[in-house]
Amino acid sequence: MAATLTEDLIQIYDALFAAFGHQHWWPAKTPFETMVGAILTQNVSWTNAAQAIANLEDAGMLDPRLLAEADTADIAPLIVPSRYYNQKAERIREFSRVYVREFRADPAAMAAMETGELRERLLALRGFGKETTDTILLYVCEKPVFVVDAYTRRIFSRYGFLPEGASYDLTQRLFAENLEPDAELFNDYHAQIVRLGNTICKRSPLCDRCPIREVRGTLRCAVGRG
Ligand code: SF4
Repeated sequence: MAATLTEDLIQIYDALFAAFGHQHWWPAKTPFETMVGAILTQNVSWTNAAQAIANLEDAGMLDPRLLAEADTADIAPLIVPSRYYNQKAERIREFSRVYVREFRADPAAMAAMETGELRERLLALRGFGKETTDTILLYVCEKPVFVVDAYTRRIFSRYGFLPEGASYDLTQRLFAENLEPDAELFNDYHAQIVRLGNTICKRSPLCDRCPIREVRGTLRCAVGRG
């Protein structure tokens, strides 16, 4: 384990935490809502996904057994705000069926499965990429798996820790190989990254407002140092 990189990653987290406070993720009332949210937020903002979740809830459909048995033509109109609604209705129904059939709609039964095996099972589902799968592993099953998204790649390549256009796996390894496997830390670290990427390290970065532009005087972002 590279001690320096470990310290740098921890210092960056500490600076984000000091600036933003604990993020208390995932923003959902139940594990099932988290999983449906992970599907609905694919390729759209969280605001869009949250509206679709609210519609499912208002219709009394945010239930794995109901969604497993529903016609996709009944699910799709409720999730229009998440865009790609026909495709996502299929994904939600297929996932709900597996969740009911193989895990008795019990998140503890999912969490009891060995991490690699569960990851393979979820990745085999239609429309389940690595980000959606790892989100469920971390935020539902509390497995110490670091979730990577576009913000993670952008921020850490700008910082100088990753090459531009780094792959999902390479980005994930940066954290997995340099931090202790700690689900609580990974939970809030990813949430902090989303907060920074969403509000400050945008496509056009607002470096003057960035809490990690310079950390303790020694650690500096390659882009933000100007
Ligand atoms: S200093 Fe600028 S480029 Fe670097 S992480 Fe902060 S906002 Fe992004």
